[in-house]
Amino acid sequence: MKVGILALQGAVAAHASALRRLHAEPCEVRTPEDLADVDALVLPGGESTTMSMLLESAGLVEPLAERLAAGLPALGTCAGMILLGAEILDGRPDQRCFDAIDISVRRNAFGRQVDSFEADLEVDGLAGGPFRAVFIRAPFVERVGPDVEVLATVDGHPVVCRQGPVTVTAFHPELTDDLRLHQRFLEEIR
Ligand code: GLN
Repeated sequence: MKVGILALQGAVAAHASALRRLHAEPCEVRTPEDLADVDALVLPGGESTTMSMLLESAGLVEPLAERLAAGLPALGTCAGMILLGAEILDGRPDQRCFDAIDISVRRNAFGRQVDSFEADLEVDGLAGGPFRAVFIRAPFVERVGPDVEVLATVDGHPVVCRQGPVTVTAFHPELTDDLRLHQRFLEEIR
């Protein structure tokens, strides 16, 4: 199973090491050819406006939209969640999202003064106690469609959602030693 990590910008290396520790075969995706070769894709955190621009210049927008529409399993974290959603609130007018999961996502939703925080989250279906979640200028989900499962919330705002083969987190699960969310993603796609 080849798991790609969109490697245009952002927290790529930490996802790769999490996947390697779980015995998956991570590979970096920068071109349409790289994308054609993977069975699943991780979209990392970083800066969604920059990633959107780089996706355009890499010629990845159409191929990625096609693969996601065809059911490519995807895990989007933070900026990756913004890219996978159906609507971006407080985005730049020219930034792209892929409508792979029916959510509206507000960028930088936890406010500028709280650029970064950690929280212990109860994630539905995740055995072994709370998940220590690292939020960095994080978005949250403001609207969920009828087919979306909300798996965790902070102050009532969804921060982990799933729809079919697509899972998104508003935080950075790759920045702690807790591999349970990556593991669950791999189990779902295997
Ligand atoms: N604020 C960033 C954005 O809008 C996301 C931050 C992150 O990925 N840690 O894309």
